[in-house]
Amino acid sequence: MRESNKCVICLKNFNNSIKDDSKTEEHVFPKSWYPESTPNDLEKWKVPSCRKCNNDYSLYEQNLLIRLGLGLFKKNEKCSGIIEKARRSIDPTYAKNERDRQKRLKCREEVIRDLSSSDKISSKGILPNFGADEKIKYKEYPILLIRADYLKKFAIKIVRGMTFLFDGFLIEDDYEINHFFIKDEEQKPFMEIIDKFGSTEHRGPGIVVGRAVVFDDHKSSFYRIDIWGKLKIFATVRRR
Ligand SMILES: [Zn+2]
Repeated sequence: MRESNKCVICLKNFNNSIKDDSKTEEHVFPKSWYPESTPNDLEKWKVPSCRKCNNDYSLYEQNLLIRLGLGLFKKNEKCSGIIEKARRSIDPTYAKNERDRQKRLKCREEVIRDLSSSDKISSKGILPNFGADEKIKYKEYPILLIRADYLKKFAIKIVRGMTFLFDGFLIEDDYEINHFFIKDEEQKPFMEIIDKFGSTEHRGPGIVVGRAVVFDDHKSSFYRIDIWGKLKIFATVRRR
């Protein structure tokens, strides 16, 4: 792992005498998000982060994993085991002890709270690639809320982490990170930028990161992050 005296995510200096500021290792892509098809000996990307970011992100990522995992309906090797993992996370019968049971029940309550249904497919507010299969007609479509602020935090963390891993840079305040989601049908021009000017890294079948860097400003870049062949996050890093 590359070394840093600052947290790659919040840029705070490490201070091991303060618990929240102490140095930890954070997975750029959460360990639990790698599908079962990932080779066992594959090294999972990690970056230095403070204890607080590490703890905060485990909450955001657990929340997202459940909701995104429940939204995967086609199984393939890119997402193998993820749907099952999301379902188990809200199933108290899998609990290892009482505390674990309470945690699963709480996650289950939150999912039920965020769940509604509609008799037609909405055209607005759907996370690209996570909508209903338009060829199938249902009597009712389940709708599960996904927190946009958590997705934003997640996207920013990946961009910060990958930039650090690729180049050893921290993205300081003079640069801004913007993220967006695009349906597969509309991503061709963005793919072409990566294919023409960038490079692509695979971390097992479930995680693919493409990146192109602006030639006269190495800190400005364009990212395409593909998780499970389903969640496609695009992001730009630009000087403010
Ligand atoms: Zn931090």
